[in-house]
Amino acid sequence: MNSSKMQKPDVTCDVAIIGAGTAGLSAERSARRSGAKTILIDEYFAGTTCASIGCMPSKLLLAAAKAAHSVSRAPLFGVNPKTLTVDGTAVMERVRNLRDAFVTSARKSIEDLPQDARIKGRAKFISADTLEIDGGFLRAKAIVIATGSFPGIPKTFADLPNILTNENVFELADLPDSLAVIGAGPLGLELAQAFARLGVDVCVFDEGDTIAALKDDAVAKSLRTLLEMEFPLHLGTKVNASRSGENIELVWSGRSNGKKIFSHVLVAAGRPPNLVNLGLENTGLELDEHGTPKFDRQTMRCGSANIFLAGDCDADVPVLHEASAEGAIAGNNAAKLPYASPSRRSTPLAITFTDPHSASIGKPCDDAAIVGAVDFSDQGRAKVEGRNAGLLRIYADSRGNLTGASLAVPEGEHLAHLLAWAIEMKHTAMQLLEMPIYHPTYEEGLRTALRQICDRIEISFAADRDAGLSPGV
Ligand SMILES: Cc1cc2nc3c(=O)[nH]c(=O)nc-3n(C[C@H](O)[C@H](O)[C@H](O)COP(=O)(O)OP(=O)(O)OC[C@H]3O[C@@H](n4cnc5c(N)ncnc54)[C@H](O)[C@@H]3O)c2cc1C
Repeated sequence: MNSSKMQKPDVTCDVAIIGAGTAGLSAERSARRSGAKTILIDEYFAGTTCASIGCMPSKLLLAAAKAAHSVSRAPLFGVNPKTLTVDGTAVMERVRNLRDAFVTSARKSIEDLPQDARIKGRAKFISADTLEIDGGFLRAKAIVIATGSFPGIPKTFADLPNILTNENVFELADLPDSLAVIGAGPLGLELAQAFARLGVDVCVFDEGDTIAALKDDAVAKSLRTLLEMEFPLHLGTKVNASRSGENIELVWSGRSNGKKIFSHVLVAAGRPPNLVNLGLENTGLELDEHGTPKFDRQTMRCGSANIFLAGDCDADVPVLHEASAEGAIAGNNAAKLPYASPSRRSTPLAITFTDPHSASIGKPCDDAAIVGAVDFSDQGRAKVEGRNAGLLRIYADSRGNLTGASLAVPEGEHLAHLLAWAIEMKHTAMQLLEMPIYHPTYEEGLRTALRQICDRIEISFAADRDAGLSPGV
């Protein structure tokens, strides 16, 4: 068998993995290390979504936007650069050049696999243990589905010109003249801000009220206020699109009404699991109301079948480190069947790389949570840098155990990690306050919020003492 086509109709292995993205590669590695004979299947072997059309090219575009933004705000510091000019062709070329290097390195881990451990082709279940791949058949003791997700495109945009998704936006030869972004989630907002800072006339629309997937209303409001200084954000609006010559006219209604012609529309309205035409109906798996197999997120196993899910295709937490972790759990358990041992999942952590970064860490805030907050408009280091805006809120239980946090503050990606690690290590607010923090840093903002939590716990302990209750009840 070679990597381009199955030659034998009946190939067998211990663990077959469908999809050579982050989750699939991780599953293959983990199953192989656990002693299984593995076969990795992919329709294209084009490199992971992360490297080719996801995390990396979007961060490259944001890096260009950051450079432009730094120049445009230099006069704040008494520094007067010559007029800012953005060479859109050069921007997009750099994005693609560096992106291609990331893709090459992602492909290398596929090419390092022995020829007989990979098959290029589209896999489809014909039974719970057998896949059809371009007319050939593969039987496996266990199968990991790691087929990723794809950009959903609402009907109104079908068949219109200049509709972009994450799959083609990075192929633009130059920056668009104007851009409507459909979807105020992490993907939509990152790209909206990147293009806006590079001089594109950007407008964002979303039917819902949530931005950057933030569940904390106060933090979301703070982020929204800051983003709206750069581009309009129409939440709670329904959009209809029609062709207007080479452009697209959008008419929107709801919380705001209006119409405008855009040269391009970027659809970032969600990425459903890539499970269509996979033959799931031949597996006997129990599906949820969206057609996704039900699975256990501790073992990644689908019921008692020898089929596992990993990565974006399970519609659980569509971020890279979770895809990788899920792949490792699924691959290991697939290799060790019939025993599928549960793995502890790490503290939830999701970051949106807008400026300011926003993040959700741990559990969302609930009514019982004790909350400490810091408004970054008065944060020392943020003032120094002229970036003093945003809000950070930390949640703890009645004993001070840190449970979660939400933030939209400068350099928030680093604070989000500190908080996620503290929650992971089961620290209390008091313990985190004892950690060294250098001056003057953004991290000092944490102290303000943590002190508030400690003060509030002290007050509630005192109230409990007065009422004759034991502390923390
Ligand atoms: C624009 C964008 C920005 C992002 N930014 C971030 C970020 O900053 N941080 C972060 O953590 N996450 C980010 N993500 C999310 C992250 O990229 C994904 O969570 C991750 O790449 C999912 O990996 P995966 O292995 O599940 O899927 P993929 O990498 O998409 O792999 C799926 C593979 O399955 C193959 N396949 C599908 N069906 C079949 C079939 N029937 N037969 C054979 N092969 C098949 C496909 O060809 C593909 O290679 C971003 C995503 C996007 C789109």
